[in-house]
Formats: sequence, structure tokens, C-alpha cells
Amino acid sequence: MNFDLASVRADFPILAREVNGQPLAYLDSAASAQKPLAVINAESHFYQHGYAAVHRGIHTLSAEATTDMENVRDQAARFLNASSSEEIVFVKGTTEGINLVANSWGSRHLTPGDNIIVTTMEHHANIVPWQMIAERMGAEIRVLGLTPDGELAVEQLAALIDSRTRMLAVAHVSNVLGTINPVNALVAQAKAAGVTTLVDGAQSVMHQKVDVQAIDCDFYTFSGHKIYGPTGIGILYGRKALLDELPPWEGGGSMIDTVTLPMGTTYTNAPWRFEAGTPNTAGIIGLGAALAYVEALGLDNIQQREQQLMQYALDKLAAVPGLVIYGPQQRAGVIAFNLAQHHAYDVGSFLDQYGIAIRTGHHCAMPLMKHYGVPAMCRASFAMYNSEEEADRLAAGLIRIHRLLGG
Ligand code: PMP
Repeated sequence: MNFDLASVRADFPILAREVNGQPLAYLDSAASAQKPLAVINAESHFYQHGYAAVHRGIHTLSAEATTDMENVRDQAARFLNASSSEEIVFVKGTTEGINLVANSWGSRHLTPGDNIIVTTMEHHANIVPWQMIAERMGAEIRVLGLTPDGELAVEQLAALIDSRTRMLAVAHVSNVLGTINPVNALVAQAKAAGVTTLVDGAQSVMHQKVDVQAIDCDFYTFSGHKIYGPTGIGILYGRKALLDELPPWEGGGSMIDTVTLPMGTTYTNAPWRFEAGTPNTAGIIGLGAALAYVEALGLDNIQQREQQLMQYALDKLAAVPGLVIYGPQQRAGVIAFNLAQHHAYDVGSFLDQYGIAIRTGHHCAMPLMKHYGVPAMCRASFAMYNSEEEADRLAAGLIRIHRLLGG
């Protein structure tokens, strides 16, 4: 494996911070990852030297900014192995990507009595937009459940799909359990039944190489901020033939061909048809820098390094009395747990005192909390810049809290 942890950590200035008098142990990258200097500097450089509105100007700065932005579209297409840059839509993030598909695809393809399949482990972003469009179009939501281990009960899928199933929307990796779902097989099964597919890649693109042509899904979406890029920018991949026939979702500037009154406006081609208004150009530039950063390190190297760290952390946590860990053994990025009967918020607050940042709560996955019969969980997430020492501190902190709180 070719991975220099010290040099990667040095690229992230915030990791040198102290919190509550302790070195920061940032174990909340699944919520949002920290940014390397390459990303911070790319945005800053753009604002200092290259900033202008894109698309609308003939002046040099505007033309340069437009080229820079379109270069990132090409880069994102290569990153996901899309077959063309025209399959890449810039969105605010995963949430907007899913809402775009739910609204645009849903309003065109759903009729009363149709159904959409989601799973118990979805983030609310991959549930609520489907519920909203289902309600509007008279469609029904069906739910693919879980095994006791926290994996998808894939054998239930055949019974859920019928002639009225239109969409399967599934996470690539669970944001709570870290389960890596067998998306290739799920998509193949859905496709064989004529079902359109969307894969929520919010928790996967930073942990493993993603190839949308190999997965063969119709839509794939992820957020820049979870892959070391800026907030407010993300990618929606859509199969070209599908994007080409979908209506726009938001109307405004940059998405039209001609505008006439009182009616009769025509729209430009995909993907620009889905990008109304002034885009988050600095965010796009920053995202380009983030993708270049992880690609330079190599996603295979990152994956190997993270798997090693994850195993180390799981071994350390096994020694914590009263710790219940949720999810399968094989996981990416996150470890969700509860400490005996102690509330997740208490555990998270104590850890914060030790300089350890984790997430507590329902993790925008209330149906999953219900499945496990708990109101909340703690979640430590491990990114490529985390260390074994931080895993040691987490385990030691939990042992201390257990001792302090009793039980
Ligand atoms: N899906 C999953 C699996 C997620 O983890 C998240 C973020 N927690 C989202 C969707 C939503 O992403 P964003 O808030 O960046 O739009």
C-alpha cells in the first residue's frame, strides 16, 4: 500500500487544532469531511484571480471561468467513469440530486398506482423526496428491509417488484451502519424488471472507486463536502438517454433556449437544462481540486488504508465494556454504537471534552433507529486522514465514560 498518513494529515490544516485543550480527533467525516489546502487554495485562487459569472459573458474572465467549470464537469465524468460529460449535472449536493430526479423523472414517469422501492437504511434525503413525489403522483412507497446484521434483505426484492414498480432508490453505503450494498446486483435485478435505478453515493465515493457504467444505474449522486470538497456543490450523474428526455426541474436563466411570452419557452439541452441560475462556480472549482486530490492519492490506496484503520478501530472497540456496535463486520467509513444504557448525547458530550468529535442522534435515518429500537446512536466515522492513535483515544475515552457513568 502506498499511503503516507503524516503527509496527508499535513495537507489538512484544521487537523492540527486543539479542542478543549486536547488535540482534535475528528471522527465526524461522514457528516462532513475536512478540506485539504489544495481545495482551500483552489477556491481562494479562483476568487483572487479568475472570478466572473459563467456562461453569459464574452469577456475573458467569464470565458475562462466557464472553461474551468466545464473542465470540472469533464473531470467528474472521468471520476465516475460516465460515458460523457453531458451525463454530469452540477447540483448543491446529494439532497438536491435526489430531489431533482424525484421531481423531474417522477413527474414524467409516475402514474397513480405505481410504486417506488427504498430501503430501511436510507438517509432521509433518499426517502422524503420520494414520499413527496409519490404523494403528488398517487404512487406508493415500498420498503426493502434489513437482516439482523444490518445488511439489505436482498432476497425480499423480487417480491417487492411488480409490474407497477418504477424506481429503486438505494444507498451505495449506509451513513449509519457503513454497510456496502451490492448495488451492481440490485441494479441488475431492477433493470431486468424494467425499473429505473438511483444510487445514493453520498457515503461511497470517498471510500472506493465508483464506476457508474459497471454499476449500470440510471442515476448516481454525491456531495462534494463529504469527499474533501466544498459545501454547496455535488454531482448528479444521469444516463444520457434519460436526462435527454427529462423535463427541467427549476426554471430560470441558463437553462433556456428561447423565452417567449405569454408562453412557449423552450429549454436548452441536458445537463445545462437542469442548472438554472448562477452556479456555485467557486464550489465547482473546489470540487475539481478535491477530486484531483483523492485521485492523486489513489482511491485504491485510500480504500486499503481505511480498511486497515477500520479493522484496527473495531478491534480496539471490542475491548470497551458495554459497547453495542451496529452493522455488519465488513463496512466502509463509519462505526455506529451505543455505550450500555447511556444516552448517545451524553457519550458524545463527554468525548467532546476529550477533544474527540463524533456524531450523535438519529443520523437522518429515523426508520433505521426504529429498526434497532433505539432513539439515537453514536457514530464515529473514519476518513483517510484518521490515525490509529485517534482510534485508541476513542476506545480509551469510552472506557473512561463507562467508568464515570457506571452501569
Ligand atoms: N445520503 C446519505 C447516505 C448521506 O450520508 C447524506 C449526508 N449525511 C445525504 C444523503 C445528504 O447529503 P447532503 O446533505 O450533502 O445533501
